[in-house]
Amino acid sequence: MRWTQTYIPTLRDAPAEAELISHKLLVRAGYIRRLASGIYLYLPLMQRVIQKFSQIVREEMDAAGAVEITMSALAPAEVWQKSGRYETAGREQMRLKDRHGRDYVLNGTHEEVITSLVAGELKSYKQLPLNMYQIQIKFRDEIRPRFGLMRGREFIMKDAYSFDADVESHRLSYQKMVDAYFKIFKRAGLDSRMVESDTGAMGGESAHEFIVIVDTSAGEEYLSFCDTCECAANREKATFRDENPPTIDTETKDLEKVTTPNVTSIEQVTKFLKAKFLKVDAQRLVKTLIYNADGKPVVALIRGDRELNETKFNNLVHAVELELADEEMVRKVTGAPVGFAGPVGLKDIPIYADNEVLALKNIIVGANENDTHYLNANLDRDFTITESGDIIAASEGDLCPKCEGRLMCKKGIEVGNTFMLGTKYSESMGAKFLDNNGKEKPFFMGSYGIGITRTPQAAVERYHDDSGIIWPKNIAPYQVEIVPLNYKQDPLREAADSIYAELTAAGIDTLLDDRADRAGVKLNDADLIGCPVRITIGAKSLDAGNVELKARNSSDVQLVQVSEIHEAVKAMLETLK
Ligand SMILES: [Zn+2]
Repeated sequence: MRWTQTYIPTLRDAPAEAELISHKLLVRAGYIRRLASGIYLYLPLMQRVIQKFSQIVREEMDAAGAVEITMSALAPAEVWQKSGRYETAGREQMRLKDRHGRDYVLNGTHEEVITSLVAGELKSYKQLPLNMYQIQIKFRDEIRPRFGLMRGREFIMKDAYSFDADVESHRLSYQKMVDAYFKIFKRAGLDSRMVESDTGAMGGESAHEFIVIVDTSAGEEYLSFCDTCECAANREKATFRDENPPTIDTETKDLEKVTTPNVTSIEQVTKFLKAKFLKVDAQRLVKTLIYNADGKPVVALIRGDRELNETKFNNLVHAVELELADEEMVRKVTGAPVGFAGPVGLKDIPIYADNEVLALKNIIVGANENDTHYLNANLDRDFTITESGDIIAASEGDLCPKCEGRLMCKKGIEVGNTFMLGTKYSESMGAKFLDNNGKEKPFFMGSYGIGITRTPQAAVERYHDDSGIIWPKNIAPYQVEIVPLNYKQDPLREAADSIYAELTAAGIDTLLDDRADRAGVKLNDADLIGCPVRITIGAKSLDAGNVELKARNSSDVQLVQVSEIHEAVKAMLETLK
């Protein structure tokens, strides 16, 4: 492709709303443009990346025995009502009405649609197993769309659905998808880790996520894995062993109210109380966190030295939308400013306690009064709770739950997920087949997603430098870019055109920067858009019959004879990821 024929609108500055380096780079390098919050247009370079990644996905899905279909983006609400998820989907589900006033959904996932297809069509065990997939646009009305293609309101997914007659076959189908996923991400140049994950709103028996570890601040998923054994989980599932169990008092002491002027954080409270009362550690302090669960306040109690895990917490609360309460709600609930909340005296509000809190005696909590805390508060005597469970987050350095190793916590980007759904959807939607004894049975179902637009952004987040993107070769828009420093000079143009023709004829995706721009502009743009291999043609080296060959991920420059450039490019591509 010639640069002047395509459309690569590179920019000097990143958009103000972009937080992630990958988002900034994709906009600056002319891959994507924002139409509205969470809605993006894929420009020619991005379109090529999407098609290349999609092709890898197709090849591996087909090789694993899945078959491609395309389902509708639009579905009548009744299909979602059947599974019961219309009620629980929450405001993330994009909904609309047609001209007759009937309710419709823009699908964010297709379990309901495919199950309703299969319910009417698949009748016999002889038609099983069956795995159907599609690559299609999905919709999610995100509360806070951000991070470019990472959390958009419209995005492209590969979603596959397997149907099996029994649990053994179900597991086999699941494993085939897991194997295919490792191959897909490897071919895309990404090291992925599979971790156990929360089944969440999808339901079912077990679930895994495929995560690309990134060194930047971009990762939204925390991934914890043991430095010794194979134990790995995402933030929502990660557990650990308590290394310093607190000494538990044998007797309960009297509740005592103390003044704690101008101390609100756990650190401040500990320091202040230590100075005043000595024996205080953060483990005796219990944090009281007030959350807004679908407009109503709920309370979480966790040890002062812990962090709350919102997903685990919501597994107790079951809210559609759960977020930290704002100052106004905190004041309304406690009658005090933020920082002095406590469970004692809170009326008519569900209180959820972490398991660790149950074991504690004589705890220190806020007193729901400005500058005041309680010492020696005790469960059942001074306050009651609604329910308890594991609601705390694992952190770096915590003890592995399975061995003596330590947990490492890294940020990662979720690029794929797999769900072993069992018979959840087939039962609720009446999707049944006749087994070999003529008995009616619900299908065992699996659901498998890959972010087609998200994965390339994860790759950019993983591979870039100060100058721009460094694409893995198999998902790069072009493998090679040719940069003649002055395209108006006959010898340079002739050399560029002939190398371009030769590489293109050999099936190597090549971009030729045939613009009349200054050399500096063209070289900066080449680094920015990030093709893995660059051929630079300058007058001086060309006089000696040479061009410069350089990999984007290295500063080494090779001088190569024009006649040998094809072989040299092939050899360089071989060595690249
Ligand atoms: Zn371990």
